[in-house]
Amino acid sequence: MKKKICILGSTGSIGKSTLEIISKNRNDFEVILLSGNSNFRLLISQAQKFKPKYIYLSNFYLTEKIKYFCIKNKIIIINDLNLLKKIKFDITIAAISGIAGLLPTLNIIKFSKKILIANKESIICGWKFISRELKKYNSDFIPIDSEHFSILKLIENKNRNSIHKIYITASGGPFFNKDINLKKVSINQAISHPVWKMGKKISVDSANLMNKVLEIIEASLLFNLPLNKFSIVIHPQSLVHAIIQYKNGLSFFSYHEPTMKIPIINSLYDNLNNSDLVKEDFFNKNSKEKKLIFFKPDLKKYPAIHILEIAKKNDVNVYLMINVLNEFLVNQFLEKKIFFPDIISKLSLLMRSKQVKNYLKNNKIKHINDVFKTYNFCKRLLN
Ligand code: NAD
Ligand code: MG
Repeated sequence: MKKKICILGSTGSIGKSTLEIISKNRNDFEVILLSGNSNFRLLISQAQKFKPKYIYLSNFYLTEKIKYFCIKNKIIIINDLNLLKKIKFDITIAAISGIAGLLPTLNIIKFSKKILIANKESIICGWKFISRELKKYNSDFIPIDSEHFSILKLIENKNRNSIHKIYITASGGPFFNKDINLKKVSINQAISHPVWKMGKKISVDSANLMNKVLEIIEASLLFNLPLNKFSIVIHPQSLVHAIIQYKNGLSFFSYHEPTMKIPIINSLYDNLNNSDLVKEDFFNKNSKEKKLIFFKPDLKKYPAIHILEIAKKNDVNVYLMINVLNEFLVNQFLEKKIFFPDIISKLSLLMRSKQVKNYLKNNKIKHINDVFKTYNFCKRLLN
C-alpha cells in the first residue's frame, strides 16, 4: 500500500526536497495534500505532477490565483485543516517556516499517524500543546532538522541520565572567518549560505547563529534535557551534525552529507537500507585525506549565543518571546528597515527591558490563546 502523504509548506526548501524524494519513489507514496503561501506557480506545477486531493491555503490572494486550476483538476481547496474529513495520513511533513506553522501543525496531528517536523518555531512556541495532541491521537513524531534527527538516532536506547553534554554543530554561516563590516551586509549576502540551500528566514538565522540558539531550545524541549546540557561548535563542513559526550568517557557523533534529504528519507521509510544518496567513496575524488574541523564559537562575532543565557530562565513564555521577536526582527532586516547586527542587539535589549520582564512576570502560557497574546505583545513592542 502506498503511504498517504501530507506536506505543509510544499513550496519551500524542505517541501521541495521531500517531493524530490517522493518523485523517485512514486510506488511507495501518494501525495494527498500540498500547501504553500506565496509561490502559486510552483504550487500549481507540484499539483499537476502529484495530483493531490487537497490543497491547503490560508492566503486569500493565493486561493483566487489557483481556484480555476483546482476546479478543472478536481482538487479541493481547504482554508482550514479541521475541514478534512475521514482521512488519516500515514505521514505529514510539517515544513512551514516560522510561528505560522504552529496552528497548522497542531491541527494536522489528529489526521496523521506520523509527523516529520522541520518547523522548529512551532516546537519552540507550542511544544506543550503539540506534545499533548501527539499523545491524545497516538501519533508518532520525528524531528527532521539534521541536528535533532542525529540526536534522536544517537540517544536511541540510551539512558538520558548518562549524557554529559550534547554538541550541536553550526556551519558558521556566510560570515565565518570573513573580515566584514556586518552593518553593511546586504540581504543577499546574509542569505547566501555556504553549505545549505534554505528558506530566507532560516538562512538569516544561520548567518548570525540565532538558528543554533533556536535549535538548542528546540532540542531541550524535544528531548526533555536542560539547556545547559547543550553547546554549540562551529563545523564549517557540516558533515557532523551532533556529538554526544557520555559520562563514561565515550562520545558518539552522527555524520552524513550536508543534505536534508538524508533525515527526510530516513524518516519517510522505517528501515531504509538502500538510497541513492549514499556516496560511493568516503574520500573526495583524487583526495587521500579528509580532515574534520571544529572551532569554538567566538562570542564577539556571534553575540546571539548570549541569548541562551536569557533562555535559561526556563520559562516557555521566554522561549516564545525570543522566537517571535527574532522573527519580527528578521523580517525588518529583510524589509531593509534595520541592519543585520541590529537583529541580535535589538532582541537582546528587548529581552532585558523592564516592559518584557513585567510582562513575563504577569503572564504564563496556559492556553494556546496565551501564545497569540504574547505574539501580539511582541508586535506592539516593535511598532
Ligand atoms: P522556506 O521559506 O523555503 O519554505 C517555507 C514554506 O512555508 C513555504 O512553502 C511557504 O509557502 C510556507 N509558508 C510560509 N509562511 C506561511 C504561512 N503564513 N502560512 C502557510 N504557509 C506558509 O523555508 P524552509 O527552509 O523550507 O524551512 C521550513 C522550516 O523548516 C523552518 O521552520 C526551518 O527552520 C526548518 N528547517 C529547514 C531546513 C532547511 O534546510 N531548509 C533545515 C532544518 C530546519
Ligand atoms: Mg539544523
